[in-house]
Amino acid sequence: MPQRNVEKRTENARTAPKATRICVVSFTVNATDGEARSGVLTTAHGDVPTPAFMPVGTKGTVKALDPARLRELGTTILLGNTYHLHFRPGTAVVGELGGLHRFMGWDGPILTDSGGFQVFSLRDTIVRTDEDGVTFRSVYDGEPARFTPELVAKIQRELASDVAMCLDICLPADASRDDLAAAAATTTAWARRQLASPRAEGQLLFGISQGGTDRELRRRSLEEIGELGLDGNALGGLSVGEDRALMLDTVAWAAPLLPAERPRYFMGIGDPAGILGVVERGVDMFDCVLPTRLGRTGSALTWEGRLNLRNARFSRDARPLQDGCPCRACTGFSRAYLRHLVNQQELLGLALLSEHNVRFLLDFTAGARAAIEEGRLGAYKAAALERLGEAAVATNARP
Ligand SMILES: [Zn+2]
Repeated sequence: MPQRNVEKRTENARTAPKATRICVVSFTVNATDGEARSGVLTTAHGDVPTPAFMPVGTKGTVKALDPARLRELGTTILLGNTYHLHFRPGTAVVGELGGLHRFMGWDGPILTDSGGFQVFSLRDTIVRTDEDGVTFRSVYDGEPARFTPELVAKIQRELASDVAMCLDICLPADASRDDLAAAAATTTAWARRQLASPRAEGQLLFGISQGGTDRELRRRSLEEIGELGLDGNALGGLSVGEDRALMLDTVAWAAPLLPAERPRYFMGIGDPAGILGVVERGVDMFDCVLPTRLGRTGSALTWEGRLNLRNARFSRDARPLQDGCPCRACTGFSRAYLRHLVNQQELLGLALLSEHNVRFLLDFTAGARAAIEEGRLGAYKAAALERLGEAAVATNARP
């Protein structure tokens, strides 16, 4: 009875004295291996073992996967998009219907982003950025819209997510140093304002550092955001088109500068090699649309690398996508059948591939977590990269 549990928890949170609530939501590091950590983030809707991969539920749904399936696959936390839910169906509607958990039928932890990434990545839609907020045109109907830290706090309050993110200015990798500096300074000012805004009961607030790969700017941003004492901290403005090696080098020196007693979130990475790259540098949480996006385009993540099922070599392939994978796609169907579904654009094919890909990344992340606890992350990484071969070269994708 998931609905009942949500109700009970919400009521407990409402009646609990403030000090108790602060104790309820916490982060514990259980083991370290080099800079890598395994821990547990406790939220109003349950515990999240870290490192944690968060499947992305852009519009209140992880595409092609219902909540029961997500739970079965081992999902411990989902990401929801403030930008999209604000415009469709509108967060007042979601709020009236009991918040995002009840609206989408998922009673586990939810992190909502601030919408900043969508606003600033849809650069053609931006009208004006000023100290107070950002004015842009909705991607849905072109109507003018405006995000301020206070409005983004209100939207996430209506969604009643477990973790809210601060509004930030995320610039592309080719932004000038002056623009990066201004964006980081405004991001800090906005984080202060959002911290002063009311939140949903038990809702955690994470800050986001900016500054690109510039050491001085990033360091300053990390210090300013870290000093706010937020419940968690993110590395934003990375994985935005910069060289992968430069990004990883930045994470290597930047992640340890964030408060060690709070979770560290890398925004927008989800390929196996990238996951290991940030985890071994001290990152605890990450998200990406990659598994479901690949699923919808007919590709599967496997230990042999990515399989593009449109390829004719699979037309008579009786093997499962991945030997030993317990997902429905692998236990019930052959590569040949899945290829047929993909080629005919059958909905079942998209759903099965999405399911397998999410399962693969969740299992992959759980494997990294177990390796950290046993002090063998280096060996796990070496074995994984060898098996994955060219799949280690990967792309980043965010909604
Ligand atoms: Zn599978």
